[in-house]
Amino acid sequence: MTPDYQAILQTIYAEVRPLLSQGRVASYIPQLSTIDPQQFGMAIYCLDGTTYAIGDAEKKFSLQSITKLFALALAFSREGDSIWARVGREPSGNPFNSLVQIEYEKGKPRNPFINAGALVISDILSSRFVQSDIAVLQFARMISGQANVDFDPAVAESERATAHRNYAIAHLMKDFGNLHNPVDLVIDSYCRQCSITMTCTELAQAGSFLAQHGTIPWNDTSILDPSSAKRLNALMLTCGTYDAAGDFAYRVGLPAKSGVGGGILALVPGELAVAVWSPGLDATGNSLAGTYALERFTTLTARSIF
Ligand code: GLN
Repeated sequence: MTPDYQAILQTIYAEVRPLLSQGRVASYIPQLSTIDPQQFGMAIYCLDGTTYAIGDAEKKFSLQSITKLFALALAFSREGDSIWARVGREPSGNPFNSLVQIEYEKGKPRNPFINAGALVISDILSSRFVQSDIAVLQFARMISGQANVDFDPAVAESERATAHRNYAIAHLMKDFGNLHNPVDLVIDSYCRQCSITMTCTELAQAGSFLAQHGTIPWNDTSILDPSSAKRLNALMLTCGTYDAAGDFAYRVGLPAKSGVGGGILALVPGELAVAVWSPGLDATGNSLAGTYALERFTTLTARSIF
């Protein structure tokens, strides 16, 4: 039986209110530090096209690391398994912006969802497309069905101007030979890619092809074959929320990808995609209220994958 999703969203919306003051907005990207943390939105896109939304679900927010999923899906669909020669598929157990493993793993990042891995994916896309950030933007427009999806130039520039850690990661990987394009080009593309904005409603729709085994549900466009979609779902579960992936699986039990803008996209394979946004983050850089909302979602609907 299909749960009453709108009633469940209302319950969750009431429950998360006390949490909205507990998280902290990302401040290392100056432009993001100005966001009001008291916001919360959530949207569901069912594979039959039914949608549900609550709160600030129609407000645009910075996708940040959620774009790593789009970039990976694009790279995987074009380059296939060859990408795994340059980036691994193991949880890192370290913060998303950590440098430590790059040195002793000789420039090969643990997975495509930490910054190091996403920079390698940007590099792979930069070798294939004239501008990798534009390629990711066009891909984001296609999978969301929204031609108005765009970059936020102020956020992109704010991140690029303070990207010392990502420069350090990129230079170290370049030294190991795992970055083929100039460091500046890769960082610029990556920062623009991360600045893409969407609403929860748009994001849930954008994720729906991964819930439907790689095919966009509303127009039957095949983005990935079912086996590749299964693999991306597995990576989301094991690596999509960085060093909190184990706890996230324990609490929520869904493949998901988060970003420091406060968004999380989660999938119920074969049924729906759900996007949540609340800018206050926990210590691991995941939305505090967003994680709790998804925990309550799978509890109230019995819709975890487990
Ligand atoms: N653009 C951000 C960064 O590289 C993305 C990080 C994130 O969302 N976790 O630091």
